[in-house]
Amino acid sequence: MLFKILSKDSFRELIGLLLDANEVVGPRIVSRKPDGKPIYQFLPIERFEDLSLDHDKTEYSAKTYFLPFKEDLSSFSFEGGDWEQHIRYRIQPRAIVGLHACDINALVKLDKVLLKGEFPSPYYLSRRQNTFVIGMDHDPCENGFCASVGADIVSHGFDLFLTDLGDRYFVAIDSDWGFRVVSSVAIREVTEDDREEYMRVRNRIAAGFKTKVNVRNLPTLLDLEFESPVWKRWGDKCLSCGSCAAVCPTCYCYGIEERVSMDFSRSVKTRRLYSCNLFDFAMVAGGHNFRPTRGSRLKYRYYHQHRGFTETYAEPMCVGCNRCGDACLAGINPPDVIADLEEEAAR
Ligand code: SF4
Ligand code: SF4
Repeated sequence: MLFKILSKDSFRELIGLLLDANEVVGPRIVSRKPDGKPIYQFLPIERFEDLSLDHDKTEYSAKTYFLPFKEDLSSFSFEGGDWEQHIRYRIQPRAIVGLHACDINALVKLDKVLLKGEFPSPYYLSRRQNTFVIGMDHDPCENGFCASVGADIVSHGFDLFLTDLGDRYFVAIDSDWGFRVVSSVAIREVTEDDREEYMRVRNRIAAGFKTKVNVRNLPTLLDLEFESPVWKRWGDKCLSCGSCAAVCPTCYCYGIEERVSMDFSRSVKTRRLYSCNLFDFAMVAGGHNFRPTRGSRLKYRYYHQHRGFTETYAEPMCVGCNRCGDACLAGINPPDVIADLEEEAAR
C-alpha cells in the first residue's frame, strides 16, 4: 500500500474530475429525525457541495450499487422455432465516495461469496470492477460495534482511503486505478509530522468506541444455545418485515422469479434480494415451511451472520454497523440479542 498527502482543495478538484466523466455517489442528507439529527443515504451527487462527508452512518448501506434489490438477470425470446438469450452487465464506471471502513469490509465479505465463492456472480463482478471506491475514516458512530468484529479498520477492497488530518488528508492507495486517479491532482509525500498526526487521529478513533459486543466465543455459544428461550423472546417481538436484511451491507440472500408471456414468446428472469425473517423464506414446494415461527427465522439470521459464515470464512459476516438495529421498529439489535444470549448461557 502507498501513502500520500492530499490537500482539501486537491480532494475537491479530484471529485470534480471524477464528476466530469463518471456517475459519483456519496452520502447526502435526505431528511431529519424528530430530534433534528440528519438522515443520510448514499445517492448520486452533481457537485462536491452535495456531499456530507461528516456523516456518521447512512440509513441504507451502499450494497444496492453492487447488489441491487431487483435485477433482471436475463431475458429470453422465442421466434421461428429458435430462441435467444439476452444478458446485460452494468459496465458504466461509477465512483462511490465516503464509504466507511465497515462498509468496505462488507464489500470484501461480499467479494468472498460473490466473486471467490463456488458460484461467482458476473453481475456483481461487473459492478465491483467498474466502481472506484474512496473510503473515509470517521469517529465511531453512536451504536456501531465494528471494532468488536474487527471491521473498524480496512486494509484492502478500496482504491483510496482518506483520513482527515484537519487541513489535509492522509491517503492510503490500494490499486493502480487509485494511484492514477489521485496522481491527476497535486499530492505530496508523507512527512514525519503527517505520520504522527495520522497516528494521533487513529488512536482517538480507536478509543472512541462505546458499544462493545463480545463475539470471541460466539459461534460456540450459538451452538450451545440453539434451543435457548432467547430466540422465542426476541422472535415474539419480530414483525417479520425484513427491514434488517434490506439495510444490512452484507445480507445477500435472494430469490429468483421468472415471468413468461402468455404466448410463451418471451420471458424475463429476475433476482430480488430477500430476507430470512420473511415468513416464506424457508417455504418449499408443497407448502411446508422449515422456519414457520418468527423466533426460528430470527435465529437463522444470527446463525448465518455469526456462525455459518464464520465456519466457512473464519470471520463473522456482520461488520457491526448496527443499521439493522436502527431500522428495526421492534427494537431488535445485535448488541442486546447477543448480550441476552450470553446472560442466558451464564444462567
Ligand atoms: S428483526 Fe426487526 S427489522 Fe428484522 S424482520 Fe424482525 S422486526 Fe423487521
Ligand atoms: S447484521 Fe446488522 S450490524 Fe451486522 S452488518 Fe448487518 S446491519 Fe450491520
